[in-house]
Amino acid sequence: MQAEQVRHVLVVGAGLGGLRTVEALRSNGYDGRISLVGAEEHLPYDRPPLSKQLLAGTWDADRVALRAADAYDDLGVRAYLGTRATGWQPGRVELDDGATLHADAVVVATGVVARRLPDQPDTVHTLRTLDDSLALRAALDTASSLTIVGAGFVGAEVASNARDRGIDVTVLEALPVPFARALGEDLGGLCARLLVESGARLRTGVGIDGFDDSGALLLADGDRVTADVTLVGIGGEPRLDWLSGSGIDVTRGLVCDASGRVDGADGLWAVGDVAAWWDDVLGRPTRREHWTNTVEQAAAVGAAIAGGEPPAPTVPYFWSDQFGLKVQLFGRPEPATRHVTLHGDGLDGGPVKGTVVGLLRDDTLVAVAGFGAARRVARYRALVGSGATIGEVEEMAATLA
Ligand SMILES: Cc1cc2nc3c(=O)[nH]c(=O)nc-3n(C[C@H](O)[C@H](O)[C@H](O)COP(=O)(O)OP(=O)(O)OC[C@H]3O[C@@H](n4cnc5c(N)ncnc54)[C@H](O)[C@@H]3O)c2cc1C
Repeated sequence: MQAEQVRHVLVVGAGLGGLRTVEALRSNGYDGRISLVGAEEHLPYDRPPLSKQLLAGTWDADRVALRAADAYDDLGVRAYLGTRATGWQPGRVELDDGATLHADAVVVATGVVARRLPDQPDTVHTLRTLDDSLALRAALDTASSLTIVGAGFVGAEVASNARDRGIDVTVLEALPVPFARALGEDLGGLCARLLVESGARLRTGVGIDGFDDSGALLLADGDRVTADVTLVGIGGEPRLDWLSGSGIDVTRGLVCDASGRVDGADGLWAVGDVAAWWDDVLGRPTRREHWTNTVEQAAAVGAAIAGGEPPAPTVPYFWSDQFGLKVQLFGRPEPATRHVTLHGDGLDGGPVKGTVVGLLRDDTLVAVAGFGAARRVARYRALVGSGATIGEVEEMAATLA
């Protein structure tokens, strides 16, 4: 359908991707009807502070709101909050209140749901929503011990937060080295050091058998682990249950072309954590659960539906704030075959802070990771984007030394 024929855009998922899609539609001149359907009662809010400032208590809940309530009137969007989409057919979406909304374009921004362990008791926490964060914060307020299953970014940030409160922290990780799949063993080792140097206990290669009646964790090696608070932070599953009857393949997230059109589904688009956009560099659909990726995809889809100019391609980016420093990664680490230290000596046993590492495929830069070195890392962004050679990278390192 041509942009000028689109008269109603329906965005499913009132989070970061949903809101940014609405804003991009308007900023690209779309002046038709927009509806925003969100399962939560809250207006769109930001998730990174849920494991950082909100959990620490330095921010109140109202500070995570992405926009003030009156901004939605200014955007001319009708929000259906506390309402879940339950089905899609070309041109229409069914809602859990029995209503059906007809639309010329539907954008899916339903994010992920926190993965749980089998038979996980309700007393065990997960962290994905504002309500999850407030519940965990209240529990930590009176806790002296915390067990975290999963040393991913959310687990590490909560561990960092709890250590700041003086709580005794144990982190259980299935892999031999945390983050090994995302960053490789050496960089994962730096993340592990941050955890351990904070005084947290890190147990790797740990299998979980389940829970006993008291809610204690039963480990595969026969151990039983108890704590005042337990958090399971083992990633998320794309929230696509509501599309299960639609005939669309949802096994790998919503597979899209390189501009966010869902494969084989007319008038359907997807952005954010739920979407597996075609990645020309990797040569496959790729799902990224990162803030910047969501914002960029929403900008692109809003522009495409409104008939605006597509934004310029960017370099993937994520950050995590933990143990007093910012961990950052620009680029695609997946094809890397080797790495070189560009600054700092964390990989040689020195302080992790200040370490910047280049990830290379043969002699081409594919990603740069930094630990407490934000200004330096940013300087490599363009080199990652252009696929710089090792010579160019070393030249930059010498300039910044
Ligand atoms: C605790 C935490 C910390 C994070 N920290 C960082 C960080 O430091 N750096 C970084 O790069 N990224 C971070 N992220 C990731 C980042 O927040 C996400 O990438 C981003 O929120 C994804 O936006 P989204 O719109 O795809 O999904 P979401 O923001 O999750 O929004 C999806 C919305 O859709 C709603 N929904 C689901 N199903 C339905 C349905 N059937 N009908 C209607 N609505 C539905 C959900 O209720 C939800 O409100 C963090 C995430 C979390 C949870």
